[in-house]
Amino acid sequence: MTVHDLELEHFRNYQALRVDFDPGVNVIHGENAQGKTNLLEAVGYLSGARSHRTRGDKELLSFDADHGAVRSRLESRGREFRVEALLFRGRRRKLTANGVPLKTAGELSGILRTVLFCPEDLSLIRAGSGERRRFLDVSLCQLRPRYAAALAEYHRLYEHKTRILRDWEEKPSLLELLDDFSDRMARCGAILIHHRARFIRALTQRAGAIHADFSGGRERMDLSYQTVKTVTDPQAPSAALYPQLLDHMASHRRAELEARQCLSGPHKDDLVVDIDGRSAKQFASQGQTRTAALSLKLAERELHQQDMGEWPVLLLDDVLSELDSRRRAFVLERIDGGQVFITCCEEELIDQLQRARTFHIRAGRLE
Ligand code: ATP
Ligand code: MG
Repeated sequence: MTVHDLELEHFRNYQALRVDFDPGVNVIHGENAQGKTNLLEAVGYLSGARSHRTRGDKELLSFDADHGAVRSRLESRGREFRVEALLFRGRRRKLTANGVPLKTAGELSGILRTVLFCPEDLSLIRAGSGERRRFLDVSLCQLRPRYAAALAEYHRLYEHKTRILRDWEEKPSLLELLDDFSDRMARCGAILIHHRARFIRALTQRAGAIHADFSGGRERMDLSYQTVKTVTDPQAPSAALYPQLLDHMASHRRAELEARQCLSGPHKDDLVVDIDGRSAKQFASQGQTRTAALSLKLAERELHQQDMGEWPVLLLDDVLSELDSRRRAFVLERIDGGQVFITCCEEELIDQLQRARTFHIRAGRLE
């Protein structure tokens, strides 16, 4: 997959930008606060109309603008696409591909896939399970459209059920709906668990191998999937998981009514990362944390490649500068292949990236 060019209008600190990219490595260089991450964010936005830094589109518009645009010509699975996202303050955005309006943002992730690694990704190892579930969800929504639909439905049902559990004492009639919501959540939840388990199994092999290479064979990284306790084989087809989840929900019914919240289900899942048999969340050093997070992302990138026969676009925000020279060289070797965008402040990094095209950014302009 290749992003050939990009045009921005009133996007963050870019008033107007038009740029052609290299199909290989692109280095976005500049001092702090000039617009490097903003540019990476715009490329990432082309996939799924989603930003890694914000949920809404409002923040993406330049401070004083009431509309903006992101346009690009890109290539995916042998076809060329012209993608356009028009953003408005206080109005719904408009997405089109080759002039045809898109109904959902998911249709955009069907065209372009990206894998991002940024400093905040250290929380993938360090933070609570929510960050790791987000990683699983973002990857799987790109990999499996059925997963994206099940996830959206699960979240919707979860919100409803939470309201029922919160308000049932004041409105006892709500209890009539409870079992129906539990049943539908079990159906969607079974799809989520099945896909997560298979994804984690595939990820384990690759991330483990990458991590071993990274550490010169000195460390071993293992991943495991932690889900609802009654599920015996999470990789089983979702039809087999559904009754197990239903049993689980039935046995927790009373406790949920008392606690007035949804107590357990795939919304509590975790991806457990161990290094040399110990919890990385609790014991990994700074360097180990960075290496483990990067191994997960590079493994994810390889899974996309295996799935599509094509590399997804890789976005590396400010990460190379944090690695020692041996690890940096390892990453650069490992990412040989698809299109890559790397942001950095240091001049010396540019010297190391000889085959790359470099873009100097100053105050939202290309120099
Ligand atoms: P660093 O090296 O520190 O990471 P950077 O070049 O990646 O810097 P960006 O995160 O791209 O910096 O931000 C560049 C500037 O854009 C910041 O000064 C920020 O305040 C500004 N900015 C962010 N959002 C908007 C917006 N909606 N409108 C205008 N400017 C914005
Ligand atoms: Mg930045």
